[in-house]
Amino acid sequence: MTAPFHILDRLRGGGFLRPAEVREAVAGAADGTWSDAQLGAFLMGVAIRGLDAAATRALTVAMLESGEQWDLAAEVPHLADKHSTGGVGDTVSLVLGPLLAACGVPVVMLTGRGLGHTMGTADKLEAIPGLRLGFDRASVRRLLDEHRLAILTPTPAIAPADRRLYALRDHTATIRSIPLITGSILSKKLATGAAGLVFDVKTGDGAFLPDAAESRALAENLVATAATMGRSAVALLTDMSQPLGEWVGHTAEVRATLECLEGAGAPDLVSLSVLQAREASLVVGQPVEEAALRAALADGRARECFLRWAAAQGGDLRWLAAPRFDLAPVEAVLEAPRSGVLSRVHTRRLGLLLAEAGGGRLGPEPIDPGVALHYRGRLGRPVERGEELGRLYLRSEDEELVDRIASCFLVEEHGEAPPLVHGRVGPDGPSST
Ligand code: URA
Repeated sequence: MTAPFHILDRLRGGGFLRPAEVREAVAGAADGTWSDAQLGAFLMGVAIRGLDAAATRALTVAMLESGEQWDLAAEVPHLADKHSTGGVGDTVSLVLGPLLAACGVPVVMLTGRGLGHTMGTADKLEAIPGLRLGFDRASVRRLLDEHRLAILTPTPAIAPADRRLYALRDHTATIRSIPLITGSILSKKLATGAAGLVFDVKTGDGAFLPDAAESRALAENLVATAATMGRSAVALLTDMSQPLGEWVGHTAEVRATLECLEGAGAPDLVSLSVLQAREASLVVGQPVEEAALRAALADGRARECFLRWAAAQGGDLRWLAAPRFDLAPVEAVLEAPRSGVLSRVHTRRLGLLLAEAGGGRLGPEPIDPGVALHYRGRLGRPVERGEELGRLYLRSEDEELVDRIASCFLVEEHGEAPPLVHGRVGPDGPSST
Protein backbone atom coordinates (compact mmCIF):
# COMPACT_ATOMS: atom_id res chain seq x y z
CA MET A 1 0.00 0.00 0.00
CA THR A 2 1.10 3.59 -0.69
CA ALA A 3 2.04 6.21 1.91
CA PRO A 4 -1.22 8.17 1.37
CA PHE A 5 -3.20 4.98 2.03
CA HIS A 6 -1.43 4.35 5.36
CA ILE A 7 -1.91 7.94 6.52
CA LEU A 8 -5.59 7.96 5.54
CA ASP A 9 -6.15 4.54 7.12
CA ARG A 10 -4.77 5.80 10.44
CA LEU A 11 -6.95 8.90 10.17
CA ARG A 12 -10.05 6.76 9.49
CA GLY A 13 -9.21 4.58 12.49
CA GLY A 14 -9.32 7.58 14.84
CA GLY A 15 -5.65 8.62 14.91
CA PHE A 16 -4.66 12.27 14.99
CA LEU A 17 -2.42 13.34 12.14
CA ARG A 18 1.22 13.88 13.00
CA PRO A 19 3.18 16.84 11.58
CA ALA A 20 5.18 14.55 9.25
CA GLU A 21 1.97 13.07 7.84
CA VAL A 22 0.51 16.52 7.21
CA ARG A 23 3.74 17.54 5.46
CA GLU A 24 3.50 14.46 3.28
CA ALA A 25 -0.08 15.26 2.24
CA VAL A 26 0.79 18.87 1.37
CA ALA A 27 3.84 17.73 -0.61
CA GLY A 28 1.52 15.31 -2.41
CA ALA A 29 -0.83 18.18 -3.24
CA ALA A 30 2.03 20.24 -4.63
CA ASP A 31 3.75 17.54 -6.69
CA GLY A 32 0.63 15.69 -7.81
CA THR A 33 1.50 12.36 -6.15
CA TRP A 34 -1.69 12.46 -4.05
CA SER A 35 -4.88 12.11 -6.10
CA ASP A 36 -7.89 14.41 -5.69
CA ALA A 37 -9.70 11.53 -3.92
CA GLN A 38 -6.88 11.05 -1.42
CA LEU A 39 -6.62 14.79 -0.75
CA GLY A 40 -10.40 15.02 -0.37
CA ALA A 41 -10.28 12.28 2.29
CA PHE A 42 -7.38 14.04 4.02
CA LEU A 43 -9.26 17.36 4.04
CA MET A 44 -12.44 15.80 5.41
CA GLY A 45 -10.43 14.05 8.13
CA VAL A 46 -8.83 17.33 9.15
CA ALA A 47 -12.15 19.19 8.99
CA ILE A 48 -13.86 16.64 11.24
CA ARG A 49 -11.08 15.87 13.68
CA GLY A 50 -8.99 19.06 13.66
CA LEU A 51 -5.23 19.38 13.99
CA ASP A 52 -3.15 20.11 17.06
CA ALA A 53 -0.83 23.13 17.17
CA ALA A 54 2.22 21.25 15.86
CA ALA A 55 0.30 19.75 12.95
CA THR A 56 -1.31 23.13 12.12
CA ARG A 57 2.15 24.66 12.02
CA ALA A 58 3.38 21.81 9.80
CA LEU A 59 0.45 22.38 7.42
CA THR A 60 1.21 26.11 7.23
CA VAL A 61 4.96 25.67 6.75
CA ALA A 62 4.49 22.98 4.09
CA MET A 63 2.02 25.13 2.13
CA LEU A 64 4.30 28.16 2.47
CA GLU A 65 7.33 26.16 1.31
CA SER A 66 5.44 24.79 -1.69
CA GLY A 67 6.07 28.16 -3.38
CA GLU A 68 8.17 31.30 -3.50
CA GLN A 69 9.09 33.12 -0.27
CA TRP A 70 9.94 36.77 -0.81
CA ASP A 71 11.19 37.67 2.67
CA LEU A 72 10.65 41.38 1.95
CA ALA A 73 11.05 42.48 5.57
CA ALA A 74 14.77 41.70 5.32
CA GLU A 75 15.02 44.65 2.90
CA VAL A 76 12.06 46.78 3.99
CA PRO A 77 12.12 47.11 7.78
CA HIS A 78 8.84 47.33 9.73
CA LEU A 79 6.85 45.96 6.80
CA ALA A 80 3.21 45.36 7.78
CA ASP A 81 0.34 43.35 6.32
CA LYS A 82 -3.31 43.09 7.25
CA HIS A 83 -5.93 40.46 6.56
CA SER A 84 -9.69 40.48 6.95
CA THR A 85 -11.73 37.30 7.00
CA GLY A 86 -14.29 39.26 4.97
CA GLY A 87 -17.60 40.90 5.51
CA VAL A 88 -20.12 43.27 3.97
CA GLY A 89 -18.97 46.85 3.42
CA ASP A 90 -15.57 46.03 4.89
CA THR A 91 -13.46 48.76 3.31
CA VAL A 92 -10.81 48.86 6.06
CA SER A 93 -7.97 47.40 3.94
CA LEU A 94 -8.34 50.14 1.32
CA VAL A 95 -8.09 52.84 3.97
CA LEU A 96 -5.45 51.24 6.17
CA GLY A 97 -2.81 50.74 3.46
CA PRO A 98 -2.40 54.37 2.38
CA LEU A 99 -3.02 55.60 5.92
CA LEU A 100 -0.08 53.64 7.33
CA ALA A 101 2.08 54.47 4.33
CA ALA A 102 1.34 58.18 4.88
CA CYS A 103 2.54 57.76 8.48
CA GLY A 104 5.80 56.10 7.46
CA VAL A 105 4.90 52.43 7.94
CA PRO A 106 5.39 50.34 4.77
CA VAL A 107 2.59 47.97 3.84
CA VAL A 108 2.47 44.99 1.51
CA MET A 109 -1.02 43.60 1.23
CA LEU A 110 -1.84 40.32 -0.40
CA THR A 111 -5.53 40.55 -1.19
CA GLY A 112 -8.22 38.12 -2.21
CA ARG A 113 -11.36 37.95 -4.32
CA GLY A 114 -14.92 38.01 -3.04
CA LEU A 115 -16.41 34.76 -1.84
CA GLY A 116 -20.14 34.14 -1.49
CA HIS A 117 -21.72 37.06 0.37
CA THR A 118 -18.45 38.96 0.85
CA MET A 119 -16.75 41.28 -1.61
CA GLY A 120 -12.97 41.07 -1.96
CA THR A 121 -10.44 43.90 -1.80
CA ALA A 122 -8.94 42.79 -5.12
CA ASP A 123 -12.33 43.03 -6.86
CA LYS A 124 -13.03 46.42 -5.30
CA LEU A 125 -9.70 47.81 -6.47
CA GLU A 126 -10.36 46.53 -9.98
CA ALA A 127 -13.37 48.86 -10.07
CA ILE A 128 -10.71 51.54 -10.63
CA PRO A 129 -10.10 51.49 -14.40
CA GLY A 130 -6.58 50.34 -15.25
CA LEU A 131 -5.55 49.31 -11.74
CA ARG A 132 -3.32 46.20 -11.78
CA LEU A 133 -2.74 43.72 -8.97
CA GLY A 134 -0.44 41.11 -10.51
CA PHE A 135 3.18 41.88 -9.57
CA ASP A 136 6.39 39.95 -9.11
CA ARG A 137 8.82 40.47 -6.24
CA ALA A 138 10.95 43.09 -8.02
CA SER A 139 7.91 45.24 -8.87
CA VAL A 140 6.57 44.97 -5.32
CA ARG A 141 9.94 46.03 -3.98
CA ARG A 142 9.89 49.07 -6.30
CA LEU A 143 6.37 50.01 -5.20
CA LEU A 144 7.46 49.77 -1.57
CA ASP A 145 10.55 51.90 -2.17
CA GLU A 146 8.60 54.58 -4.00
CA HIS A 147 5.22 54.55 -2.25
CA ARG A 148 5.61 52.45 0.91
CA LEU A 149 2.57 50.53 -0.36
CA ALA A 150 2.00 47.54 -2.61
CA ILE A 151 -1.31 45.72 -2.96
CA LEU A 152 -1.39 42.55 -4.99
CA THR A 153 -3.10 39.23 -5.56
CA PRO A 154 -1.08 36.04 -4.92
CA THR A 155 1.05 35.13 -7.93
CA PRO A 156 0.79 31.51 -9.15
CA ALA A 157 4.19 30.92 -7.53
CA ILE A 158 2.91 31.78 -4.03
CA ALA A 159 1.67 28.77 -2.01
CA PRO A 160 0.66 26.60 -5.00
CA ALA A 161 -0.30 23.76 -2.63
CA ASP A 162 -2.96 26.05 -1.15
CA ARG A 163 -4.40 26.70 -4.60
CA ARG A 164 -4.98 22.97 -5.21
CA LEU A 165 -6.21 22.28 -1.69
CA TYR A 166 -8.52 25.31 -1.67
CA ALA A 167 -10.19 24.22 -4.93
CA LEU A 168 -10.75 20.76 -3.44
CA ARG A 169 -12.07 22.23 -0.18
CA ASP A 170 -14.60 24.21 -2.18
CA HIS A 171 -15.94 20.93 -3.63
CA THR A 172 -15.76 18.82 -0.49
CA ALA A 173 -17.49 21.10 2.06
CA THR A 174 -14.23 21.52 3.96
CA ILE A 175 -13.81 25.29 3.76
CA ARG A 176 -15.09 25.72 7.32
CA SER A 177 -12.20 24.19 9.23
CA ILE A 178 -10.09 26.32 11.55
CA PRO A 179 -6.73 24.58 10.92
CA LEU A 180 -7.34 24.54 7.16
CA ILE A 181 -8.32 28.23 7.12
CA THR A 182 -5.30 29.07 9.30
CA GLY A 183 -2.86 27.26 7.01
CA SER A 184 -4.43 28.69 3.89
CA ILE A 185 -4.42 32.33 5.02
CA LEU A 186 -1.02 32.27 6.73
CA SER A 187 0.86 30.40 4.01
CA LYS A 188 -0.03 33.13 1.51
CA LYS A 189 0.44 36.04 3.90
CA LEU A 190 3.81 34.84 5.18
CA ALA A 191 5.10 34.26 1.65
CA THR A 192 5.62 37.97 1.03
CA GLY A 193 7.53 38.23 4.29
CA ALA A 194 5.88 41.07 6.21
CA ALA A 195 7.39 41.56 9.69
CA GLY A 196 4.00 41.64 11.38
CA LEU A 197 0.35 41.02 10.68
CA VAL A 198 -3.00 42.31 11.83
CA PHE A 199 -5.96 40.00 11.42
CA ASP A 200 -9.45 41.42 11.35
CA VAL A 201 -11.56 38.40 12.23
CA LYS A 202 -15.19 39.26 11.69
CA THR A 203 -17.91 37.87 13.92
CA GLY A 204 -21.69 38.00 13.64
CA ASP A 205 -24.28 37.27 10.95
CA GLY A 206 -22.28 38.61 7.98
CA ALA A 207 -18.96 37.02 8.97
CA PHE A 208 -17.26 34.12 7.23
CA LEU A 209 -17.51 32.31 10.59
CA PRO A 210 -20.60 33.91 12.23
CA ASP A 211 -20.35 32.01 15.50
CA ALA A 212 -18.50 33.95 18.23
CA ALA A 213 -16.66 30.90 19.62
CA GLU A 214 -15.54 29.81 16.15
CA SER A 215 -14.31 33.27 15.13
CA ARG A 216 -12.42 33.57 18.42
CA ALA A 217 -10.84 30.15 17.88
CA LEU A 218 -9.74 31.24 14.40
CA ALA A 219 -8.26 34.48 15.78
CA GLU A 220 -6.32 32.54 18.43
CA ASN A 221 -5.10 29.97 15.92
CA LEU A 222 -3.90 32.60 13.43
CA VAL A 223 -1.97 34.54 16.06
CA ALA A 224 -0.49 31.46 17.77
CA THR A 225 0.54 29.78 14.50
CA ALA A 226 2.13 33.00 13.19
CA ALA A 227 4.07 33.28 16.48
CA THR A 228 5.48 29.76 16.09
CA MET A 229 6.86 30.94 12.76
CA GLY A 230 8.55 33.99 14.24
CA ARG A 231 5.98 36.56 13.06
CA SER A 232 4.27 38.93 15.44
CA ALA A 233 0.57 39.10 14.91
CA VAL A 234 -2.51 40.47 16.56
CA ALA A 235 -6.16 39.74 15.81
CA LEU A 236 -9.17 41.91 16.45
CA LEU A 237 -12.60 40.34 16.63
CA THR A 238 -14.84 42.91 14.98
CA ASP A 239 -18.55 43.19 14.47
CA MET A 240 -20.23 42.05 11.27
CA SER A 241 -23.83 41.93 12.42
CA GLN A 242 -24.49 44.85 10.04
CA PRO A 243 -22.55 46.34 7.11
CA LEU A 244 -19.51 48.35 8.12
CA GLY A 245 -19.67 51.98 7.09
CA GLU A 246 -22.29 53.42 4.79
CA TRP A 247 -21.51 51.85 1.43
CA VAL A 248 -21.54 48.31 0.09
CA GLY A 249 -20.46 47.66 -3.48
CA HIS A 250 -17.25 47.76 -5.48
CA THR A 251 -17.23 51.26 -6.95
CA ALA A 252 -19.12 52.53 -3.91
CA GLU A 253 -16.46 51.25 -1.51
CA VAL A 254 -13.68 52.92 -3.49
CA ARG A 255 -15.70 56.09 -3.09
CA ALA A 256 -16.13 55.45 0.64
CA THR A 257 -12.38 54.95 0.86
CA LEU A 258 -11.71 58.36 -0.64
CA GLU A 259 -14.24 59.97 1.71
CA CYS A 260 -12.48 58.30 4.61
CA LEU A 261 -9.08 59.42 3.37
CA GLU A 262 -10.41 62.98 3.31
CA GLY A 263 -11.41 62.70 6.96
CA ALA A 264 -15.11 62.45 6.10
CA GLY A 265 -15.73 58.72 6.37
CA ALA A 266 -18.42 56.89 8.32
CA PRO A 267 -17.46 56.90 12.04
CA ASP A 268 -17.31 53.09 12.40
CA LEU A 269 -15.17 52.66 9.28
CA VAL A 270 -12.81 55.44 10.38
CA SER A 271 -12.53 54.09 13.94
CA LEU A 272 -11.81 50.54 12.82
CA SER A 273 -9.29 51.67 10.20
CA VAL A 274 -7.44 53.82 12.74
CA LEU A 275 -7.53 51.10 15.39
CA GLN A 276 -6.16 48.46 13.03
CA ALA A 277 -3.55 50.83 11.62
CA ARG A 278 -2.40 51.54 15.19
CA GLU A 279 -2.23 47.79 15.94
CA ALA A 280 -0.28 47.16 12.72
CA SER A 281 2.20 49.89 13.58
CA LEU A 282 2.74 48.34 17.02
CA VAL A 283 3.10 44.83 15.72
CA VAL A 284 5.91 45.84 13.33
CA GLY A 285 7.67 47.93 15.99
CA GLN A 286 7.06 51.37 14.49
CA PRO A 287 4.27 52.77 16.68
CA VAL A 288 2.04 55.53 15.31
CA GLU A 289 -0.32 57.24 17.76
CA GLU A 290 -4.03 57.35 17.05
CA ALA A 291 -3.90 61.18 16.91
CA ALA A 292 -1.21 61.05 14.21
CA LEU A 293 -3.27 58.60 12.17
CA ARG A 294 -6.38 60.76 12.43
CA ALA A 295 -4.32 63.80 11.44
CA ALA A 296 -3.08 62.03 8.29
CA LEU A 297 -6.71 61.44 7.34
CA ALA A 298 -7.80 64.98 8.13
CA ASP A 299 -4.99 66.85 6.36
CA GLY A 300 -5.14 64.85 3.11
CA ARG A 301 -1.76 63.05 3.39
CA ALA A 302 -3.41 59.61 3.35
CA ARG A 303 -5.47 60.56 0.29
CA GLU A 304 -2.34 61.85 -1.50
CA CYS A 305 -0.64 58.56 -0.71
CA PHE A 306 -3.59 56.58 -2.07
CA LEU A 307 -3.68 58.56 -5.32
CA ARG A 308 0.07 58.29 -5.94
CA TRP A 309 0.03 54.59 -5.17
CA ALA A 310 -3.08 53.95 -7.32
CA ALA A 311 -1.45 55.71 -10.28
CA ALA A 312 1.72 53.63 -9.81
CA GLN A 313 -0.37 50.45 -10.03
CA GLY A 314 -2.03 51.73 -13.23
CA GLY A 315 -5.20 53.30 -11.76
CA ASP A 316 -6.90 56.06 -13.77
CA LEU A 317 -6.54 59.28 -11.76
CA ARG A 318 -9.16 61.11 -13.85
CA TRP A 319 -11.72 58.48 -12.85
CA LEU A 320 -10.68 58.78 -9.21
CA ALA A 321 -11.02 62.57 -9.34
CA ALA A 322 -14.60 62.45 -10.66
CA PRO A 323 -16.97 63.85 -8.05
CA ARG A 324 -19.47 61.04 -8.46
CA PHE A 325 -18.54 57.57 -9.59
CA ASP A 326 -20.56 55.39 -11.91
CA LEU A 327 -23.10 53.78 -9.62
CA ALA A 328 -25.76 51.63 -11.30
CA PRO A 329 -28.61 53.87 -12.54
CA VAL A 330 -31.77 52.37 -11.00
CA GLU A 331 -32.30 53.70 -7.49
CA ALA A 332 -34.67 52.07 -4.99
CA VAL A 333 -35.30 53.38 -1.50
CA LEU A 334 -35.55 50.92 1.40
CA GLU A 335 -37.98 52.40 3.92
CA ALA A 336 -38.55 51.46 7.56
CA PRO A 337 -41.82 49.46 7.54
CA ARG A 338 -42.81 50.80 10.98
CA SER A 339 -41.54 53.05 13.74
CA GLY A 340 -39.25 51.43 16.26
CA VAL A 341 -35.60 50.50 16.50
CA LEU A 342 -33.45 48.87 13.84
CA SER A 343 -32.95 45.58 15.65
CA ARG A 344 -31.35 43.20 13.16
CA VAL A 345 -29.78 43.07 9.74
CA HIS A 346 -29.61 39.73 7.96
CA THR A 347 -26.17 40.71 6.76
CA ARG A 348 -25.16 37.45 5.09
CA ARG A 349 -28.45 37.31 3.16
CA LEU A 350 -28.02 40.98 2.23
CA GLY A 351 -24.55 40.30 0.81
CA LEU A 352 -25.84 37.32 -1.18
CA LEU A 353 -28.74 39.36 -2.59
CA LEU A 354 -26.41 42.16 -3.65
CA ALA A 355 -24.27 39.49 -5.31
CA GLU A 356 -27.41 38.14 -7.02
CA ALA A 357 -28.05 41.68 -8.29
CA GLY A 358 -24.68 41.45 -10.04
CA GLY A 359 -22.55 43.06 -7.36
CA GLY A 360 -20.73 39.94 -6.23
CA ARG A 361 -18.98 36.77 -7.21
CA LEU A 362 -21.55 33.96 -7.23
CA GLY A 363 -20.60 32.36 -10.55
CA PRO A 364 -18.40 32.92 -13.58
CA GLU A 365 -20.23 36.12 -14.64
CA PRO A 366 -18.23 39.36 -14.33
CA ILE A 367 -18.97 41.55 -11.33
CA ASP A 368 -21.03 44.69 -11.89
CA PRO A 369 -18.99 47.23 -9.90
CA GLY A 370 -21.78 49.84 -9.95
CA VAL A 371 -24.31 47.78 -7.96
CA ALA A 372 -24.40 49.29 -4.49
CA LEU A 373 -26.22 49.83 -1.25
CA HIS A 374 -26.06 53.13 0.63
CA TYR A 375 -26.77 51.92 4.16
CA ARG A 376 -28.30 54.74 6.20
CA GLY A 377 -29.39 52.77 9.27
CA ARG A 378 -27.48 51.63 12.33
CA LEU A 379 -28.43 48.83 14.69
CA GLY A 380 -30.01 50.12 17.88
CA ARG A 381 -31.00 53.45 16.33
CA PRO A 382 -34.67 54.58 16.55
CA VAL A 383 -36.39 55.01 13.18
CA GLU A 384 -39.70 56.46 12.04
CA ARG A 385 -42.04 54.60 9.73
CA GLY A 386 -41.13 55.46 6.12
CA GLU A 387 -37.63 56.67 7.03
CA GLU A 388 -34.93 55.76 4.55
CA LEU A 389 -32.87 52.83 5.86
CA GLY A 390 -30.94 52.46 2.68
CA ARG A 391 -30.82 53.17 -1.03
CA LEU A 392 -30.05 50.58 -3.66
CA TYR A 393 -28.29 51.23 -6.96
CA LEU A 394 -29.22 48.48 -9.40
CA ARG A 395 -28.61 47.87 -13.10
CA SER A 396 -32.30 47.21 -13.84
CA GLU A 397 -35.72 47.38 -12.20
CA ASP A 398 -36.44 44.32 -10.03
CA GLU A 399 -39.20 44.88 -7.48
CA GLU A 400 -39.05 41.35 -6.15
CA LEU A 401 -35.32 41.61 -5.46
CA VAL A 402 -35.78 45.01 -3.81
CA ASP A 403 -38.46 43.49 -1.53
CA ARG A 404 -36.17 40.62 -0.59
CA ILE A 405 -33.36 43.06 0.21
CA ALA A 406 -35.76 45.22 2.25
CA SER A 407 -36.69 42.14 4.30
CA CYS A 408 -33.06 41.91 5.50
CA PHE A 409 -33.71 44.90 7.81
CA LEU A 410 -35.83 44.30 10.91
CA VAL A 411 -37.47 47.12 12.85
CA GLU A 412 -38.83 46.09 16.24
CA GLU A 413 -39.71 47.67 19.56
CA HIS A 414 -36.27 47.09 21.02
CA GLY A 415 -32.79 46.64 19.64
CA GLU A 416 -29.23 47.24 20.71
CA ALA A 417 -26.15 48.68 19.08
CA PRO A 418 -23.43 46.01 19.00
CA PRO A 419 -19.87 46.90 19.99
CA LEU A 420 -17.57 47.57 17.05
CA VAL A 421 -14.83 45.41 18.56
CA HIS A 422 -15.68 42.21 20.44
CA GLY A 423 -12.19 41.28 21.53
CA ARG A 424 -8.48 41.26 20.83
CA VAL A 425 -6.01 38.41 20.66
CA GLY A 426 -2.40 39.46 21.03
CA PRO A 427 0.82 37.48 21.26
CA ASP A 428 0.08 36.91 24.96
CA GLY A 429 -3.42 35.65 24.30
CA PRO A 430 -6.89 37.20 24.46
CA SER A 431 -7.52 40.56 26.14
CA SER A 432 -10.53 42.87 26.29
CA THR A 433 -10.43 46.07 24.27
N1 URA B 1 -9.40 32.74 2.83
C1 URA B 1 -8.34 31.96 2.48
O1 URA B 1 -7.40 32.42 1.86
N2 URA B 1 -8.36 30.67 2.86
C2 URA B 1 -9.37 30.12 3.55
O2 URA B 1 -9.31 28.95 3.85
C3 URA B 1 -10.46 30.94 3.89
C4 URA B 1 -10.45 32.25 3.53
